[in-house]
Amino acid sequence: MNDTYRHKGLRKQLVETIRSKGILDEKVLEAIGNIPRHLFMDSGFITFSYKDQAFPIGEGQTISQPYTVAFQTQLLEVKPSDRVLEIGTGSGYQTAVLIELGAFVFTIERQRKLFLKAQENLGLLGYKPHFFYGDGYQGKPTYGPYDRILVTAGAEYIPAKLKGQLKVGGIMVIPVGDRNSQRMIRIVRKAETDFEQSEHGLFAFVPLLTGRED
Ligand code: SAH
Repeated sequence: MNDTYRHKGLRKQLVETIRSKGILDEKVLEAIGNIPRHLFMDSGFITFSYKDQAFPIGEGQTISQPYTVAFQTQLLEVKPSDRVLEIGTGSGYQTAVLIELGAFVFTIERQRKLFLKAQENLGLLGYKPHFFYGDGYQGKPTYGPYDRILVTAGAEYIPAKLKGQLKVGGIMVIPVGDRNSQRMIRIVRKAETDFEQSEHGLFAFVPLLTGRED
């Protein structure tokens, strides 16, 4: 679990790369600059940890591209103490970014191996979200409603249950589309039945799958 000067140097370069691609939220850039991404990578890809790319993490899933993580987080406008529901824990890297911003994070993963691995890894690094093994399409009503909801896998549609777990004034960010490409959608719950929706470009995520793995 080493974080060396070399890693820190590479991280600074990564932050500048992301900045040059249009991420301007200093708090988000700071979080990316603080988090040792190499400790979230699969051993085979560690050398590439500070490349601005997605990489396999096993189970057919990926750790998202840092730019994409930063873009989604910037759209989410997280404030300290926000209750944030994250769908798709994966490596736990995005979870760490949300915690660095001061959020209370509730994160759901449907692949058992990834769920267990992220739990162990984030724990070792001192990050303490609430972990759930289950189907993110259902959300987690018991702990809601949430100030923010972030979906980190490509959904075919916007799950009504997730919209229902958003506080009035809350924001949800979710990529929506088919297997090949998804539009980044930002939803603001203006009032109980009033949702304002905006679009923020095309991305390619692994699919949001229904049900739990077993
Ligand atoms: N934020 C993660 C991205 C992981 S990729 C990271 O930076 O590492 C998306 C993750 O969503 C995968 O781990 C996948 O298993 C998970 N996933 C897919 N469908 C899901 C669902 N219905 N509920 C919960 N997690 C889901």
